[in-house]
Amino acid sequence: MRAEEVIGTHVNTDFDAFASLLAARLLYPGSTAALPSVLNRNVREFARLHADELRCVETARLELDAIGRLVVVETLNESRLGELEPVALDPAVETVVFDHHAGELPGWVRPENAVLSTDGALTTTLVGILAEREVAVGPLEATVFALGIHEDTGSLTYASTTRRDADALAWCLRHGARQEVLATFLRTPLSDGERALMNALLEAAGTCRVAGVEVLVAAVSWPEYVEGVSHLAHKITDLTDSQALAVLVEMDRRVFALVRSRTADLDAAAAAAALGGSGHPQAASAIFRGGLDEARSRFLDGLIGATRKPVRAGDVMARPARSITPDETVAAAMVACQRYGQSGILVTEDGRLVGSVRREDLDKAIGHGLSHAPVKGIMSGRVPVVDEETSVGELQRLLAGSAEGRLAVLRGERVVGVVTRSDVLQALGEAVEVPSEPYESIADELRRLERLEPVFDAVAAASDTVEGVFLVGGTVRDILLGEPGFDVDIAVEGDAIGLARAIARQLGGRVRAHEKFGTAVALYGDRQRVDVVTARTEFYDAPAALPTVEHATIRDDLHRRDFTINAMAASLKGDDFGRLVDPFGGRRDLVAGRIRVLHNLSFIDDPTRIFRAVRYENRYGFRMDEHTARLARGCIEMGLVGDLSSTRLLDELEALLEEGEVEHSVPRLAELGAAHAIHPHLAADQEAVRLIRRGRELAAKYGLEIPVWRIGIAALARRMPPDELYDWLERLKMRRRDVEQVAHAVTVGPRLVELLRDEQPSPSEVVALAEPYAPDTPLFALALEELPVLHRYFSDLRGVRLEVTGADLAQLGLGESPRVGEVLAELRRRKLNGELDGRESELAAARELIARGP
Ligand code: ATP
Repeated sequence: MRAEEVIGTHVNTDFDAFASLLAARLLYPGSTAALPSVLNRNVREFARLHADELRCVETARLELDAIGRLVVVETLNESRLGELEPVALDPAVETVVFDHHAGELPGWVRPENAVLSTDGALTTTLVGILAEREVAVGPLEATVFALGIHEDTGSLTYASTTRRDADALAWCLRHGARQEVLATFLRTPLSDGERALMNALLEAAGTCRVAGVEVLVAAVSWPEYVEGVSHLAHKITDLTDSQALAVLVEMDRRVFALVRSRTADLDAAAAAAALGGSGHPQAASAIFRGGLDEARSRFLDGLIGATRKPVRAGDVMARPARSITPDETVAAAMVACQRYGQSGILVTEDGRLVGSVRREDLDKAIGHGLSHAPVKGIMSGRVPVVDEETSVGELQRLLAGSAEGRLAVLRGERVVGVVTRSDVLQALGEAVEVPSEPYESIADELRRLERLEPVFDAVAAASDTVEGVFLVGGTVRDILLGEPGFDVDIAVEGDAIGLARAIARQLGGRVRAHEKFGTAVALYGDRQRVDVVTARTEFYDAPAALPTVEHATIRDDLHRRDFTINAMAASLKGDDFGRLVDPFGGRRDLVAGRIRVLHNLSFIDDPTRIFRAVRYENRYGFRMDEHTARLARGCIEMGLVGDLSSTRLLDELEALLEEGEVEHSVPRLAELGAAHAIHPHLAADQEAVRLIRRGRELAAKYGLEIPVWRIGIAALARRMPPDELYDWLERLKMRRRDVEQVAHAVTVGPRLVELLRDEQPSPSEVVALAEPYAPDTPLFALALEELPVLHRYFSDLRGVRLEVTGADLAQLGLGESPRVGEVLAELRRRKLNGELDGRESELAAARELIARGP
């Protein structure tokens, strides 16, 4: 079988790999999911049972030469790809990788074509993308995804499990994952062969202690191949309750090794690496080509290197330590703390430590009117100090007893770094509280917005019913930029519709609510509006999916947004009024003119964000930072701009083309590769820019009601052959009338130019050619070439109307018949050509035409 685009995964496929394979197929419409020849037993049984519905193809049946793009999921190791290994290694094949194992990228995939996540299961990463893209999945797929997540997170119990894994599992259940099927395939009973091997392993198991970690090692030589050794390792871990386990089974002239670790002190992946394997810190495997004794001794030799190396102050400290001098003012110290989000700062003189000051004390000093006093007046001179070799345990102890919450790290007399509580927690692998952000207020900026004063008052009056209420997203961005006409978007931690009703009541307006989405618009005054939504988290389809008590926080909501400059909120609630919530440094990026995504999967989650980035670049003169631009290019090169049939793409394209000048945005689409990804024959060039600009000028000059985006689409599509053009416009789900206008502009516009360029057509001939396709086609033709006759068409001819009507013709004795239209058309032709002048001459001509008969 021939397939151009193939999704593949590793042999001995487990559910996470299998589920990822199916999920990736949804991202690449038209691709083929290839199943390796060897699947784990539970996966094989499932795949057999549902073969027809799953529509996977065995790799062995594929014509490998025909593959142009290979998307690999769940491994970075080409030798685990079985028959697909040579395809991955073929430089002519474009490769893309999705994985969640830490490890070095292999040479066969370009870094920008690799998506590496830190989710417990890779399925979670892909489900996240599908959820964000709102791709529909059926119950069977949801069941496979749930199996994948269960298997790779030990049903959400492994230490590597993240909240995203739990959210993704919940998403699967909401999409119909069948719980009873999960139970069957997750608890596959042992076969006779497996049971015998397990008994042998338990008998052979012995404990060894390495760097304080107890590792149970079970090694046996087995006469026949038994599959599902990983399944056995699970069972043995449960049975023995061991901290760490290594199972080595020699069979089929190879040693199959599995390492499991339940302690952060042993990295299973590093232990398996001694036998050439890989995996996660909690679970890893290897296939070693050699004998059992050699495997065992190599494994034991490598074990010490896989235990956690003692962490010291030099490893965890922040450097360079930010500091101020004792003579700087209290205000300057506060600014430094705010800017860097620190709860205090060291005071140094010529690189030597003299003290430290807490933000709390700075706050108090400012309250007492001491902003301009030197900081030495309020600093504490007793800062605990350590050196770079101090152990984490000692750091923890010192921090527990320190009021300052920070330790200075000295080399000799010089301060080389600083250690805070969160540095230590992070080093211990514990979840770190996001360091408390600088408290910034934009209350002054908000108070200056007189038109919003009544809204703010209304919100404040109604805000008791909700936990938090915020201006959010583009609204905050535009306020900070001082842009005048912005939309007012409000996000609520709580019931948005209820709040919108209360606001509308206060403003004497009304509410339009969308119960299904939990959103509402308060309409008031002279066509004023405020949009109110409930704060959402990334995995939920709609806020309505959440019980009201479990609504998301504003931070969750900001996490799912596109760019840092759009991921800010400002509180509108009572005492909290004006507090800026800016977890990603959006304000800093606004000042720097930088467009930055919040995470590496952002464009893959939603490729329309690429167009949004370009639009903001164009509008504000900002630029994507290097990393963001690289991610955008990567997403495009990986073919993940995807199935561009979405109406959302059209919306973004329209917005981009409507955005004033397009001098930057149109060529930028080409430069990023986005234009080509939208359609290989899209012409995003300087000529398109010129056509759009000229079209816009002409439309304004002649007062035409043509949306600019429509001229833009025609300019971009002007090189497409007609069948491709219609096909593309269809895929964009454009309205019928728009399709016709654009298609005619592209196909008829240039012909019109040809026809009108050399001929000396009469006015009525110009109208006959232009009118059936007006307004876009003649306008597009005029943008293509300055033709005086078309100027005349727009300035005069199209407005030429007869003064006589069908009723006049009836009075003259012409009854209802096709002849009425013919006479009127002939009269208009004569009038256009200047042969008639005024009602009387029209009536005279009409009389003559009626008398002459057909
Ligand atoms: P504009 O002035 O172009 O309308 P805006 O920022 O108000 O800019 P909207 O399209 O109204 O744009 O979106 C409102 C907010 O929703 C954005 O500021 C952003 O935070 C968020 N948003 C919109 N589209 C996306 C997207 N595709 N991905 C993530 N967040 C988005």
